[in-house]
Amino acid sequence: MEPNIGTIIQEQPQVQYDLWKAAFGFGEHGQRSNVLPSPEALIRARNSLPETLAETGVGFKAIQTHILNDIVPATNAGSISPNYYGFVTGGVTPAALFADNVVSAYDQNVQVHLPAHSIVTELEYNTLGLLADLLYLNRKDWQNGTFTTGATASNILGLACGREFTVRTACERSGCPIRSVGESGLFETLQASGLSGVQVLSTLPHSSIGKAAGVLGIGRANIKNIVCASKGNPLSFDMDKLETELSNSNKASIVAISCGEVNTGRFATAGVDEMQAIRNLCDKYGAWLHVDGAFGIFGRVFLEDEDSSEFASIRKGCEGIELADSIAGDAHKLLNVPYDCGFFLCRRPDVAGNVFQNANAAYLRVSGDTEGPSIPSPLNIGIENSRRFRALPVYASLLSYGRKGYREMLQRQTRLARMISEWLFDHPAYIVLPEFENKEALLDTTYMTVLFRAKQDELNRELTAKINTMSQMFVSGTSWQGQPACRIAISNWRVDEKDFALVTAVLENAAA
Ligand SMILES: *Cc1c(COP(=O)(O)O)cnc(C)c1O
Repeated sequence: MEPNIGTIIQEQPQVQYDLWKAAFGFGEHGQRSNVLPSPEALIRARNSLPETLAETGVGFKAIQTHILNDIVPATNAGSISPNYYGFVTGGVTPAALFADNVVSAYDQNVQVHLPAHSIVTELEYNTLGLLADLLYLNRKDWQNGTFTTGATASNILGLACGREFTVRTACERSGCPIRSVGESGLFETLQASGLSGVQVLSTLPHSSIGKAAGVLGIGRANIKNIVCASKGNPLSFDMDKLETELSNSNKASIVAISCGEVNTGRFATAGVDEMQAIRNLCDKYGAWLHVDGAFGIFGRVFLEDEDSSEFASIRKGCEGIELADSIAGDAHKLLNVPYDCGFFLCRRPDVAGNVFQNANAAYLRVSGDTEGPSIPSPLNIGIENSRRFRALPVYASLLSYGRKGYREMLQRQTRLARMISEWLFDHPAYIVLPEFENKEALLDTTYMTVLFRAKQDELNRELTAKINTMSQMFVSGTSWQGQPACRIAISNWRVDEKDFALVTAVLENAAA
């Protein structure tokens, strides 16, 4: 018998929830364990994978049993456990989970804006507006963009728009007749304008900026770190060096701001004045200003509490972002919706249109006689033509929590990170990174990430493994200034300050 779609949609979230509970034993605080699957579960799953595709299928019931019994127990608790602090995984709110199941069940293709056929493009556009509201960005400027597979894709979109804009600007300034890289190609446009290439100027950019440079023909070697080593902030721009690089007339430039650096959780800029100074330089030299705000940009939910000093440095770190040309963000991190979901916002829709237009496909054109608002078709703003209805889980979760719900979530995450930082700072076996002389300055600038190492080299080398084999919580291993380091990223919606006890017990144990 074929399963009933209605029943699957209604029951699936509960089924998933029960499964996760069974697999990971979470529920009450303190009794969670096993953020990683057991070795036995992994072996069982591995052995259950077929060697070839059988001629005759096993049917729905059998495949359901296989997935629930063999595969699910061999997955990690990444999104499910609030004590999985690896990477920046976020989690999945109940509203987002429900919506995501609806997305799969109704399988809408968000591609061409056809207002008489489906609400999906309008809802997606509406969700861009809700995101702008959440982030205190003016809808008039920022309700343009698209939903992507994640911040990597959003960074590719941002650098692609930057490449289009900055090369075109250089072309115009040198009197060359070519008007679009998207149309004429990078090579011909560079040649005609007398440029030797495009460069990306940043401070400690995320690795995905390098990936974007590789994909877009900019080249990873053309990413330049403009860090000012002498200042307290490991991410500050050296403004003189920035201007020297921008004034290099051989290269068209994109400036990429790390609005939340993945290791330290720190910000490249500290207030609207710094952003304005960078904006002015970009205008002077025809550069594009892109912000990688994958998780950092959500610090803007603190813009509301202007009087509170508790989150002042976070607020400063994402102030002035509205001066950028494009913004990359992740929804599957701090918004706590399922993978694959990121967003790309762009203040210059004409530029994105030049890059991504799906030209010359007559059957994809929208007829002018349909009712409803006019919205650019998503296929002219992003990479894909056909894709899933990515906005719905974001829409559901934003409406379900509101700005206040998300602000409170981030408060709990940041407070827990600061409690752990303080504990580590005072602990004889550990060093919090980047190193601060002054505990207060360390705590004031701590967002939802804690980077640390063991003082003793031998312990430090095995620290990540030692922590993770206890399977009580999971931390990422990384490196900081050439040394191994551990990172705790607190990004799950179910975060609880009570987890401080669990985290410090594990860290105490690891140091013993
Ligand atoms: C996570 C992250 C990315 C990449 O995001 P994906 O969702 O993994 O594609 C880019 N930039 C920063 C700062 C990040 O933290």
